[in-house]
Amino acid sequence: MSTSVQRFSPYINGVMMEPSSGKFFQRFDPGDKGNMIALVGDGSRDVGAAVDAAREAFDGDRSGWVSDYRLRARVLLRAADIVRERASELARLESLFTGKTIRTSRLGDIPRTAEILEFYAGAADKLLGYSQQLRNGDVTVLLRQPVGVVAAITPWNFPLLILARQTAPALAAGCTVVAKPATITPATAIELAKILEKAGAPPGIFNVVTGPGETIGAELLKSPKIDVVNFTGETTTGKMIMQNAASSLKRVVLELGGKNPNIVFEDADLEQVANAVTYGAFANNGESCAAGSRLLVQRNVRKKLVEMVSNKIRGLRVGYQLDETSDLGPLVSQQQMEKVLEYVAAAFSEGLDVVVGGRRLSGGVFDKGFYVEPTLVDQTPPTSKLFREEIFGPVLTVTEFENEEEAVALANATVYGLAAGVWSNDSRKAMRVAEKVKAGTVWVNTYYTLPVEQPWGGFKESGIGRNNTILALEHYLEWKGVYIDTQKGPMRPYYGIVLGQKQS
Ligand code: NAD
Repeated sequence: MSTSVQRFSPYINGVMMEPSSGKFFQRFDPGDKGNMIALVGDGSRDVGAAVDAAREAFDGDRSGWVSDYRLRARVLLRAADIVRERASELARLESLFTGKTIRTSRLGDIPRTAEILEFYAGAADKLLGYSQQLRNGDVTVLLRQPVGVVAAITPWNFPLLILARQTAPALAAGCTVVAKPATITPATAIELAKILEKAGAPPGIFNVVTGPGETIGAELLKSPKIDVVNFTGETTTGKMIMQNAASSLKRVVLELGGKNPNIVFEDADLEQVANAVTYGAFANNGESCAAGSRLLVQRNVRKKLVEMVSNKIRGLRVGYQLDETSDLGPLVSQQQMEKVLEYVAAAFSEGLDVVVGGRRLSGGVFDKGFYVEPTLVDQTPPTSKLFREEIFGPVLTVTEFENEEEAVALANATVYGLAAGVWSNDSRKAMRVAEKVKAGTVWVNTYYTLPVEQPWGGFKESGIGRNNTILALEHYLEWKGVYIDTQKGPMRPYYGIVLGQKQS
């Protein structure tokens, strides 16, 4: 399939410019690797200009962005409408670059992006502070003011959705943004910049620097002109981000890896579990921080559930990502495919029971891209690297447990703590387990539904802070206490501590 080659390069002060480096990377279709789909400008030398644009737009507030909350509300609301109007074009672009199926983009990423923009449009004029009259009659007023310039560094698996999640609350709060999308998936970040501008955002409010993370990300972190870094990506990168952000004490929000358990008790509705487990493990090709990649199941029902889930997996259709009938598409890159295949090879070398899948697909369209069979590995012990490490691909492991205590111990036996599912018809048991599992999100009798009204973020090495909901606004707002003296006369009792008795 041939597609026209588009150019995506730094978008600064409302203009997509030629990169100062003069360099472009080629991006190929992950489902058809001979097909070049884009030239991506290396913005390594444009970080300073992007940061300056955002800084000036904030500090000068010439456009009224910082002070006019109604302007911000209108822009975000219009942007949501434009995302909906352009939904099919955006969905196609997102799938083409990432390898996620067109149904995933059309039914998931794009409408959810519009909802996020809409949600924070509604928050822009409700950034209430508060006040208190003190017992001496004075008044303290707490103002909430935007922090300043936000760097949003995003991964390749949900390029538009995660960028919206990180930046819509920042924009609602009155901050300005420099976005750094993943090197291989810059397209919809540039589109979001254009959409915001069309919706009325003044130039400089939302800037994008395309290109490699090691140089651009590092530069953003060094800049004293950036106040907040919101990063989504690997835990190892997140640790580096936190260290580098310390040099100028930037606020840091981190959404990192996950190794999420679905805990299934024998009294659960197994038909529903089988659907949700299959969906949760293989949605977005399994390239999701929220993937329910560990199935923990009570001993008596393990065999039955493994058979049910395996049958569902056998029915999944892997194919080209823009094909309406594909349930899974190609993985995002050769590098990602090789990483996933290494884990599958480890399953074989560890002598584990690979019940379904376990191979790179070949023949026909499969030879053209990075297609891996959805895979289920039964009886995976907690000592296996497949149990402990984030694979970030279509691989589901199964481990059995005896009782509630063992289920919780297994669920918590990784460094991650992003999400979990608990399945039981006994609501008290489900609640007990939900409380004990160390995860930022626990789904009870469902899996992987994540509206903007649900907070998202991790315990342990899955991150710091929460995105989504009104909680996310906190990252972008400062509290300022203004103390107003209401009393008459030149002295106050506390001045006497220094001025002494004689002057009072
Ligand atoms: P990554 O850490 O490799 O890259 C993320 C972003 O950081 C990219 O834009 C990259 O260019 C940039 N980057 C790379 N090196 C950098 C550096 N030294 N300094 C600053 N920025 C740098 O992650 P990825 O491979 O794009 O995404 C996959 C990972 O993201 C997985 O671990 C996944 O679990 C995680 N993730 C987490 C969530 C969540 O909500 N918790 C959501 C999606 C993805």
